[in-house]
Amino acid sequence: YAGKKNTVSLTESMMNLKVKDFQSMPVIVSENMTVYDAILHIFLEDVGTLFVADKDNHLQGVLSRKDLLRTSIGSQDLNKIPVNIIMTRMPNISYCSKKDSLILAANKLIEHEIDSLPVVEETEEGLEIVGRLTKTNITKAFISLAETHDL
Ligand code: ADP
Repeated sequence: YAGKKNTVSLTESMMNLKVKDFQSMPVIVSENMTVYDAILHIFLEDVGTLFVADKDNHLQGVLSRKDLLRTSIGSQDLNKIPVNIIMTRMPNISYCSKKDSLILAANKLIEHEIDSLPVVEETEEGLEIVGRLTKTNITKAFISLAETHDL
């Protein structure tokens, strides 16, 4: 069986990397969570980006570290500001689906200069959040490619 894995070209392996094989768990908060609690959440869950959803888990917004820092600098009462007034909201959110190629997702991250994409399933009612795809996931895929091809 030696050498079997190298019968697939590097190009082919790269095109076969899918979002579903490298995605992480999403960290989801509700629209009425306060900015203060969102900051606590970022630390507790150890993520860089929170996704904001309605009660049915449909994507409403994205909150990054910088969104939270920007609001904190203003030094208003962070316990009184709900995240939905500072988040980036639909329809301005870039997202991907499980079956997408990682190359497509990586392109979206670079094109929009962002750290993560919500992984969603499109339904009649909206975009249901099923995962999170980050630059770290892309980096892990890059390593797996090197390992598969004995680079
Ligand atoms: P940070 O600001 O912590 O460096 P990002 O670079 O990911 O994190 O975020 C930059 C800006 O882009 C923020 O205002 C954030 O709300 C927004 N953003 C983050 N992810 C997305 C996304 N998937 N689609 C659209 N906007 C996003």
